Amino acid sequence: MGKKKTNNDVNPQHMQTFQRLNFLYQAAALMTLTSVPSNESNSTKTKSSSISEDRTINDGRTSLAPVGRYYNANMKKIAKHLVLRLDPAIKRSVCKRCHTSLIPSKSSNICFKADERPATIVTCKTCGTERRFLARPAHRLFSEKSENILQFVGHIHPAIGSDL
Ligand SMILES: [Zn+2]
Repeated sequence: MGKKKTNNDVNPQHMQTFQRLNFLYQAAALMTLTSVPSNESNSTKTKSSSISEDRTINDGRTSLAPVGRYYNANMKKIAKHLVLRLDPAIKRSVCKRCHTSLIPSKSSNICFKADERPATIVTCKTCGTERRFLARPAHRLFSEKSENILQFVGHIHPAIGSDL
């Protein structure tokens, strides 16, 4: 009745979810870097004094970073709801507090401290949250260890093969 489950099988529903998470992550990074001409400056051609939000940049353009934060928050919410692990590289590139995509020199500052515990410090420019990553040459992340990497089997599951 049911298909025999092996370790190399990827749940097709999770495959679609991972594709959705991937889209949200990339869209969030794009939105963080994108700004559009603001409507206020186009219509009045004056510097509006009501620009107090972080959305508006000084030259009359509106940043879409809040949309990116929304996408990242959505990505985290979906992963948490379905109990899917995000890769540590992805988790480290999203601010834990405000969900901004941490793009070096654009939305985050990176500095290296070489004291008794050398570390890389990433500071979010939006909320000022600092994250400290210790420099441990021998340390390997769970996802970087070769024994934890699954072999991708290049077949399409029959359940979704007909749908696509
Ligand atoms: Zn932040």
